[in-house]
Amino acid sequence: MRTLITHLNRIIEGRPPVSDDAPENRERREFLLAERIRYVLNDPTSSLMTNMALGMVLCFLLKPMFDVARLLIWVACLLMACLLRVSLAQLYAKHADKFPSRYWMRLYFAGTVLSALVWSSTSLFFFHTGSFDLQVYLVAILAGLVHGAGHSQAPFRRLHVLYAIIVMGPLIFRFFAMGSFFYGTFAFTLIFLFAALSISTRRMHRILMWSLDMRYDMSQLALIDALTGVANRRHFDIFIYQEWRKAQREDTPMAMLMVDVDFFKLYNDIYGHQRGDQCLRSIARAISGVIHRPSDLVARYGGEEFSVILPNTPLRGAMKIAELIRQEVGALFIEHRKSTVAHYVTVSVGVAVISPGQENHLNELVSAADEALYKAKETGRNRIYVHLAEPREEGSNVLPVSR
Ligand code: GH3
Ligand code: MG
Ligand code: MG
Repeated sequence: MRTLITHLNRIIEGRPPVSDDAPENRERREFLLAERIRYVLNDPTSSLMTNMALGMVLCFLLKPMFDVARLLIWVACLLMACLLRVSLAQLYAKHADKFPSRYWMRLYFAGTVLSALVWSSTSLFFFHTGSFDLQVYLVAILAGLVHGAGHSQAPFRRLHVLYAIIVMGPLIFRFFAMGSFFYGTFAFTLIFLFAALSISTRRMHRILMWSLDMRYDMSQLALIDALTGVANRRHFDIFIYQEWRKAQREDTPMAMLMVDVDFFKLYNDIYGHQRGDQCLRSIARAISGVIHRPSDLVARYGGEEFSVILPNTPLRGAMKIAELIRQEVGALFIEHRKSTVAHYVTVSVGVAVISPGQENHLNELVSAADEALYKAKETGRNRIYVHLAEPREEGSNVLPVSR
């Protein structure tokens, strides 16, 4: 059953734009699927209006030929299918984030198939073999419906093909079943038209996917620091706010490290800005190498300062990471002739940990980490300094250089 659902998902979702399962590609796929769902579940009323208007016109035309009760039952089914689809769109508008995109995709798929089945039943119940006029009306309405759905279903091209087959298939079959050369040609023409429509929907699908792909790239670029490749300040601001709210909700400690390169102005003065940039890149890599949890974030806070956010991390863990960062940067042994604390590039790290209550403000964490960094500089550089809410005896929160 599970494999069947997986296969169904693959068929509806289409070929993934990126094939391997690397985390960043998985993220991209999730983004693309979420955007496609947003596209199809965005405007429920226009689909409801079109379906109901076409249904009414059809009933009006069929009234003289068919039993009213049969027509009323059919309209009631159509109305129910439409209302289900509208309710789904409204549910999505309210609770989109509460369920995974795949869940919405399946519901959308079910709603679309249900509505296709209602339309498809017209070929069974309202096909009048003796009235060519009515047959042409039926063709016009169903073909118009499938054509119109091409736009709204473009994000799920295969679903559109399925929709067209369900809606038009029985009608085309009936034309073939009439057995005459004329009806056979008519049916073939319809098949040809839908093949052409499918090609144009495919083109639309590709353009849409391409633009969504670009949007994903742009959104990622907007969050990355161009020089070092770690998160930029904007990403940092968004991330720290989200994690702070989460820590408040879940009552967990949140740690922040401020990492600043020692005597970096002097480094630039001696070795030039290009070497300075190279040095910042190496330091960013060294810091990122220490951070392993996917929930943590390394960001360039500005200039030669980096920040590390460690959600759900107590003081002991944060101190360990800070010390590892200090050691790893030192271990790069980037020569620095003018540094008075070592003959290579070093960093100072300010550590702060807060378990945010409802009364705390995010700025408290940032200022605490900032203050701790200032103290690390003041007390000699190339060290970590821990901000404690109530400092114990003088100097107890400085971690001396362990060499
Ligand atoms: P301290 O040990 O007190 O931190 O001294 P510092 O010289 O590192 O600190 P200061 O704030 O005086 O200087 C920071 C320098 O970092 C200024 C600037 O030359 C350098 N810097 C900032 N951003 C960049 C950058 O993107 N590339 C390069 N090459 N240098 C940068
Ligand atoms: Mg600085
Ligand atoms: Mg500095």
